[in-house]
Amino acid sequence: MRDVQIERVETIIVDLPTIRPHHLSMAVMRKQTMVIVRLFCSDGIEGIGEATTIGGLSYGDESPEGMKLTIDTYIAPLLQGKSARSANALMSLLDHHIQGNYFVKSAIETALLDAQGKRIGVSVAHLLGGAVTKTLPVLWTLASGDTTKDIEEAHALLADGRHKAFKLKIGRKPPKEDIAHVAAIKEAVGADTVVTVDVNQAWSESVAKQGIAQLQLAGIDLIEQPIHKTNFDGLARLTRYFEVPIMADEAVATVSDAFKLAKVGGGSVFALKIAKAGGLVNIQKQAAIAQGAGISIYGGTMLEGTIGSVASAQVFSTLPTLDWGTELFGPLLLTDDIVKTRVRYGNGVMEIPQGPGLGIELELNQVEKYKRK
Ligand SMILES: [Mg+2]
Repeated sequence: MRDVQIERVETIIVDLPTIRPHHLSMAVMRKQTMVIVRLFCSDGIEGIGEATTIGGLSYGDESPEGMKLTIDTYIAPLLQGKSARSANALMSLLDHHIQGNYFVKSAIETALLDAQGKRIGVSVAHLLGGAVTKTLPVLWTLASGDTTKDIEEAHALLADGRHKAFKLKIGRKPPKEDIAHVAAIKEAVGADTVVTVDVNQAWSESVAKQGIAQLQLAGIDLIEQPIHKTNFDGLARLTRYFEVPIMADEAVATVSDAFKLAKVGGGSVFALKIAKAGGLVNIQKQAAIAQGAGISIYGGTMLEGTIGSVASAQVFSTLPTLDWGTELFGPLLLTDDIVKTRVRYGNGVMEIPQGPGLGIELELNQVEKYKRK
């Protein structure tokens, strides 16, 4: 097999407007900023990847501007001239030289796998052992910040059939107001529609105990990360105490987190995200830990655009144990896109692109249009 080198790595910061403000416990988003990675190889193949955060630094340790700097200054020189064929070898090299920086590593691994898939004519899922599905269930997050608007949005989406399950973001307002908001929406959409609630760490354990009791009474189907991510034992106590499933999200970032949480029983569901985990291969490792521990899996999002969402979908499609479906709706939250063909959604699912690599390509005019000047 002829060797192929990485010639250069380019990063571009892109700002895309959202269709409406997106209210989270830690931020209100009116646009999404993504760092797009273009990895050029000596055989003319280009791999693409995406590093995206939620509301700059409000979710995690990495910011779009910082991620661009890390790639340009530290990662690109390490990759330049290296053989492009083995993502595992290159990711091991990065782990040796660069601590943490998981979002960035996920974007780089995505670009490496995309390039290799395009090179040999197979999908990224195929490189990861093969897909078990061509579609993934995708719920929608109601987060306009207004109960009436959220109910209207839910009814329109149910009528249209695009989504069949919803997630509600709470934690910004006092618990009483938040719970009334959730209960009103659950009642409006009906008992048969799955409604989950994400508190994004906003509650103390004592408040969570009272809040979850009421959410359970309102018929909520799952509670996501009610307390701070570092409180593994608290998550375990809540998981044991309630019938409603408790999902770990922020708490289960790395492979090591997954192991430690599984050991104490912190959560009956894990929300996995390629950015938190530092890449697609690590998602499979976390999924194996969860499977061994009898913990269900949910395919999470960092509200990535199409590239990051498709990268997530490629690895999620290889997991037979994705019991709780996914939230890969990021591209639908944006008014426009930077890829040639937009991903198709309908009937409650996302259709995973089936071409080589990620199965998508950048539309460079669009990248230029939304590139931060
Ligand atoms: Mg979450």
